Amino acid sequence: MSDFLLNGHIEGLADSDDLGDLHIATASDTPMKPRAAVMSDAEKIERISDHFAEIMDILGLDLRDDSLRGTPRRVAKMYVNEIFRGLNPANKPDITTFENKYQYRRLVVERNIPLQSTCEHHFQPILGVAHVAYIPNGRVVGLSKLNRIVEFYARRPQVQERLTMQIAEELKRVLKTDDVAVYIDARHLCVQARGVEHHGASTITAEYAGKFLSDTTKHEFLQAVYSKMPE
Ligand SMILES: [Zn+2]
Repeated sequence: MSDFLLNGHIEGLADSDDLGDLHIATASDTPMKPRAAVMSDAEKIERISDHFAEIMDILGLDLRDDSLRGTPRRVAKMYVNEIFRGLNPANKPDITTFENKYQYRRLVVERNIPLQSTCEHHFQPILGVAHVAYIPNGRVVGLSKLNRIVEFYARRPQVQERLTMQIAEELKRVLKTDDVAVYIDARHLCVQARGVEHHGASTITAEYAGKFLSDTTKHEFLQAVYSKMPE
């Protein structure tokens, strides 16, 4: 388990608003309703569109205006097809692994994977990079598949700690090894645009498992992440 996740009662925090503002998660699974995948994407878009129009209307915007008329449907399609597409299990990438024929047993690092997610407490963007690594056991994977795993879990309302855990768990499952590492460095626009409005701040989360719990392997990973690319 990650050091970053707290289970059960959190001292001093009375209600869910406090939890939300402090960005604390209580489980590594995205909280979903049972049978959440039953509604079709088309129906989700239709219903979100209606509700978003209502929000805009309440805010006092004139939806008859040419510039605003298409916004509710545009937002609904963006939610369902793009920024929250990772909520639909049907969009989970099908990852093919290959036998590790060349018996490569050292570090594989995929770094600077662009990360675009959404803070589930404020529905504001989380923007940054993810670095992931594994040590092949019996199986290896096409490198771009690592990016796809990051992408799938990022495309949900998230807290960065849970996102980190979910990517690590999926890497373990797909690669059939515990020897995985995930490191995320990201800016939360909810921190920059509201609340404390701290512009330079970024948040780092990491999960190390298996051999990455040893200092030597962890340092080799972090050194690889921060080494300079050849020109
Ligand atoms: Zn937030």
